[in-house]
Amino acid sequence: MEIVIEETSGFCFGVISAINLVEKELKNTNKLYCLGDIVHNDMEVDRLASMGLEIINLEKMKELRNTKVVIRAHGEPPSTYELAKKNNIEIIDATCPIVLRLQKNVMNAYHQINKTDGKIIIYGKKGHAEVIGLVGQTKSQACVISNINDLDTIDYTKPLHIFSQTTMNKNEYSAICEEIEKRVEKADGISGERLVITDSICRKVSSRTTQLLNFADSVDVVLFVSGKNSSNGTYLYSLCKKHKDRTYFISTKEDIKKEWFENCKRVGISGATSTPMWLMEEIADYVSK
Ligand code: SF4
Repeated sequence: MEIVIEETSGFCFGVISAINLVEKELKNTNKLYCLGDIVHNDMEVDRLASMGLEIINLEKMKELRNTKVVIRAHGEPPSTYELAKKNNIEIIDATCPIVLRLQKNVMNAYHQINKTDGKIIIYGKKGHAEVIGLVGQTKSQACVISNINDLDTIDYTKPLHIFSQTTMNKNEYSAICEEIEKRVEKADGISGERLVITDSICRKVSSRTTQLLNFADSVDVVLFVSGKNSSNGTYLYSLCKKHKDRTYFISTKEDIKKEWFENCKRVGISGATSTPMWLMEEIADYVSK
């Protein structure tokens, strides 16, 4: 049986540089705090925890003084930086440059649209760290929409500027934007005049779909490795499963079942943007044994 790991899977560059930054800091200290999971993968979080990284929440950060705290690739709202300043905490900023640029664009758009009594709309997962960071750029004035049902909360007579969380699905974002366009048009008969749509989905995420499905076509069985709390992982897995029924979601090698490999000549291992390459290699090794 042949075992292949999908070359383009694994950490995106935003996550790679965040982890590099953490590892660099941990060379000089045996205790470093990180606000939220550095990556949505328990195995990688455990590996870094064994080196001295402690995951904290905002409540815990409020109690800290005179220390260093890592901000992960998802970014944070301005209030977190203000808290750090107040508590004399040095921020180790691992915000992904793509997220950072999006935060700036959202902030600029907010200042612009505010003059005309308009609204910033963020298409993303409510409560997700990146979304909280983006809403923070608008003094919490942005409206977050996660699905078509949320569209009823928008006032279509006002100017609107729509952005997406970087890891959302491109087709679903297009469908949401199309529906908004229709409702704007219906509101006053002038389509597009007061509506700005920004495509802010990360290319690393949008290109993964085609790469994964092509990879799935080249194997008999796909083992999709991801943490259960990775939104990118859950989405890519469901897409792959629809395309190829013999796709299995695993987080560790313990999840693997022997019967999956009946009459299988080629096994493919793939993962989310939060899945470390070392974990996929470990799984490949386990399957081959
Ligand atoms: S998915 Fe894209 S935007 Fe998000 S951390 Fe990775 S590179 Fe940055």
